Amino acid sequence: MDILCADCRKQKFWTPCTWCKKPLCEACARFELLAEGCGTVVPAYFCATCVVDPCCNPNAIFWQMKETDAR
Ligand SMILES: [Zn+2]
Ligand SMILES: [Zn+2]
Repeated sequence: MDILCADCRKQKFWTPCTWCKKPLCEACARFELLAEGCGTVVPAYFCATCVVDPCCNPNAIFWQMKETDAR
């Protein structure tokens, strides 16, 4: 049995949320590049909840603006 995305519950699991580890599909995972130390960026995928949470995502403020615009 396939694991389903925890956000939309329709599509297949594609990658876990970097922070809370819940399964996400390709459409729900929000791609983010996190700066780590000097000049190093780490790719990360967040769920809809974590991406706008400053505790999980240092760039959350940008997503808050983006996600509000979309609605
Ligand atoms: Zn999904
Ligand atoms: Zn998450």
